Amino acid sequence: MTDRVNVMLPWLGEEEIAAVAAVIASGWVAQGPKVAEFETRFAAAMQADHAVATTSCTTALHLALVVAGIGPGDEVVIPSFSFVATANAVRYVGAVPVFADVDAATGDLDAATVAAALTPATRGVIVVDQGGVPVDVEAIRAVVPREVVLIEDAACGAGSTYRGAPVGRGADVAAWSFHPRKLLTTGEGGMLTTGRREWADRARRLREHAMSVSAAERHRSVLPALEVYEEVGFNYRMTDLQAAVGIVQLGRLPEIVARRRELAARYAEAVADRPGLRLVGDPEWGEGNFQSCWLEVGPESGRTREGLLEALAASDVSARRGIMAIHRQPPYRDAVAPGRLPVTERLTDRTLILPLFHQLTEAQQDRVIAVLTE
Ligand SMILES: *Cc1c(COP(=O)(O)O)cnc(C)c1O
Repeated sequence: MTDRVNVMLPWLGEEEIAAVAAVIASGWVAQGPKVAEFETRFAAAMQADHAVATTSCTTALHLALVVAGIGPGDEVVIPSFSFVATANAVRYVGAVPVFADVDAATGDLDAATVAAALTPATRGVIVVDQGGVPVDVEAIRAVVPREVVLIEDAACGAGSTYRGAPVGRGADVAAWSFHPRKLLTTGEGGMLTTGRREWADRARRLREHAMSVSAAERHRSVLPALEVYEEVGFNYRMTDLQAAVGIVQLGRLPEIVARRRELAARYAEAVADRPGLRLVGDPEWGEGNFQSCWLEVGPESGRTREGLLEALAASDVSARRGIMAIHRQPPYRDAVAPGRLPVTERLTDRTLILPLFHQLTEAQQDRVIAVLTE
């Protein structure tokens, strides 16, 4: 048997090990100077005004909804074609997720699908750069009322660009993930970015029990000021151990994106003349990082998604079923009438995610391609 080809592998090395060791040696392992440094560097890299590190994208989304003032009874338009956390965060604040369909080419919300889901109760829209494909946020902004908050679930978006700049800047607030399944990892971790100082300040307090004086600040003084817990907060703090890894990973991001785009182009070339096989690509308004390199298996291919997954598994290639449809999961099953999200259902039923990661060799990729084209 040949060696297994994984669907994804994080790219970690000696530099990350050294960075963690240095934090341990410093004696300060919880949220502190490394988290602050990671925030500064991440904000610069994503051209964001403010960045607030969290434990995950899920908790960053939760904070984004809280600082945006979204609460019980409010409707938030989201794609069903996403990871379940996009919807769960809406439920955390007592709001109602309203599922909109997605564009068939990108797998992202578009102006028409969002417009169709708006009601007088809509207070927010969560757009997702699904699988790293940049969402056309300006087109969506143009169809939503001014008072509706635009939140970008950029969990998959680090390294993707929209109109020549990093994704996330077009929304009022964006949330990022550093789970190992994404391009840049801290083990677990997330980030909130925003152009609004008051929102960033409040998120910074909320992630730390809503303390008026941060633990890092208190540590700096011999006789610290007595802190006040201004509201009901959370413990969504990243640790300095994670941030140290994140700083190294952020430095690797351009190289990771370049390599992934190269490998994705090889897949695209391989299936270009195969009827019924369609690989996700760049939209006209940006460039993706191919965080999830998905392939749609249409009937014209003479194959099925399940059949192709089995053939890949037989060659010891680990591919995955495509992006889920949240409205098919038990907590959300009653939210959508049958047949109302046809594109979402088609994509979720017909797509699979191909192996793509920095260390994937061309020889390994050729094994995948051989199965796709046989
Ligand atoms: C991965 C992912 C999340 C969750 O990120 P965590 O950091 O694991 O909480 C949320 N939304 C989307 C679109 C994702 O792909």
